[in-house]
Amino acid sequence: MTFDADVIIAGAGMAGATLGLSLAKAGLKPVLIDPVGFEAQLAPTFDGRASAIAFAAFRQWRVLGLAEAMEPHAQRIEQILVTDAPKPSASAGAPGPFFLRFDASEIAGRTEGEPLGYMLENRRTRSALAGAVQAAGIEVLAPARVESVEVTSRAAVVRLDEGRTLTAPLVVGAEGRGSVVRRTAGIGTVGWDYPQSGVVATVRLERDHEGVAHEFFLPSGPFAILPLTEQRASLVWTESRARAEALKQARPEAFHAHLQRRFGDHLGGAVLDGPVFTYPLSLQLAERWTAPRIALLGDAAHGVHPIAGQGLNLGLKGAAALAQTLVEAGRLGEDPGSEAVLARYARWRSVDTAGLALSTDAFVWLFSNDNPLLRLGRGLGMAAVNRIGPARRFFMQEAGGATGDLPRLLQGLPL
Ligand SMILES: Cc1cc2nc3c(=O)[nH]c(=O)nc-3n(C[C@H](O)[C@H](O)[C@H](O)COP(=O)(O)OP(=O)(O)OC[C@H]3O[C@@H](n4cnc5c(N)ncnc54)[C@H](O)[C@@H]3O)c2cc1C
Repeated sequence: MTFDADVIIAGAGMAGATLGLSLAKAGLKPVLIDPVGFEAQLAPTFDGRASAIAFAAFRQWRVLGLAEAMEPHAQRIEQILVTDAPKPSASAGAPGPFFLRFDASEIAGRTEGEPLGYMLENRRTRSALAGAVQAAGIEVLAPARVESVEVTSRAAVVRLDEGRTLTAPLVVGAEGRGSVVRRTAGIGTVGWDYPQSGVVATVRLERDHEGVAHEFFLPSGPFAILPLTEQRASLVWTESRARAEALKQARPEAFHAHLQRRFGDHLGGAVLDGPVFTYPLSLQLAERWTAPRIALLGDAAHGVHPIAGQGLNLGLKGAAALAQTLVEAGRLGEDPGSEAVLARYARWRSVDTAGLALSTDAFVWLFSNDNPLLRLGRGLGMAAVNRIGPARRFFMQEAGGATGDLPRLLQGLPL
């Protein structure tokens, strides 16, 4: 039987495009499909987020040849300072009684000088991925939407909105939380909505951030100040959905006044640099990661709260694991869509991911809560971890995505 591709990837977001690139570099033929063309994904109004990319996840992009395009825009995170405080403090050096400091230099022996992670604006990441996908000669069908998938014993048949059909031994659903591939495969989801939205804004800072990422647990919820290149920062905080919408619609002066109240005089103050974005937050886990000739990837398999900055990192780890599973299967002459091959991918990533998703959920509850006893308990917990070197180093490796059974790409090795 002849196929249109080795793997059809529905969704050319950051997870899907990374998978496509990994497969193509290893000699397989992927096809990417997305209703939004790469050019449209690069518009400043499309996605105002910046993502904290764990140092292990960034290694994958380095191996795929993306470092040159990404590094000028990637801000190294040298320190992470977590503070349980009523207001962001003016001085990073005096964070109050309950804080936790992670410093890249403490694990430098194991990471060869890598930072704790990188802050990268999503549009920069998309732009680098788009360039690399094009240079690798990967076929991209966009704008085009996957409408349904039918599976026979030997092939998956993907139907697009324009009426065209494509066949491959395997289809990957990487189309985010609303995955059509997941739905047509009959895979349900579990999870719940948080009564919150994430508010995201980019600001210019008066003083240098020195590569320090701050997470403040304010009485009203977590507030992150994440360093970007050119003395800017990405602010992410949670608000009730109604309040977040009101902020998004607010006049710039009103938004700015609110921001100043939240931000205080931290780093000399901040001036808004671009539009304000809001994202409704929820937890959504697929009940299964695979079905006959189908695998799920990224947010299609697992959508988590951004409090720990792990959503995309999980998707990138999944992309590395799936690419390795498929490439190794190809070398052994196995059918990439067979149950045995897909079970290896699901075993590798699903349990680990569910564990991280549920601990993130517990974290949201613990840190969005102003109960004085809980505040005291979490403050003491943070202070204790801060005093214990091995605990600090464990959390840094964990946040850096460098624990567990690491796919080769996350070890910095080619497939
Ligand atoms: C406020 C906020 C801050 C965050 N910060 C971080 C962070 O610091 N670090 C981190 O790791 N994660 C972070 N995340 C999570 C991260 O943004 C997501 O996990 C990530 O974007 C998911 O990528 P994806 O490629 O799986 O899915 P998506 O980005 O949702 O991409 C899906 C793609 O599929 C396409 N598509 C949709 N329908 C179809 C269809 N029918 N056919 C074909 N294609 C289709 C879409 O157009 C899109 O291009 C944050 C999330 C939020 C909300």
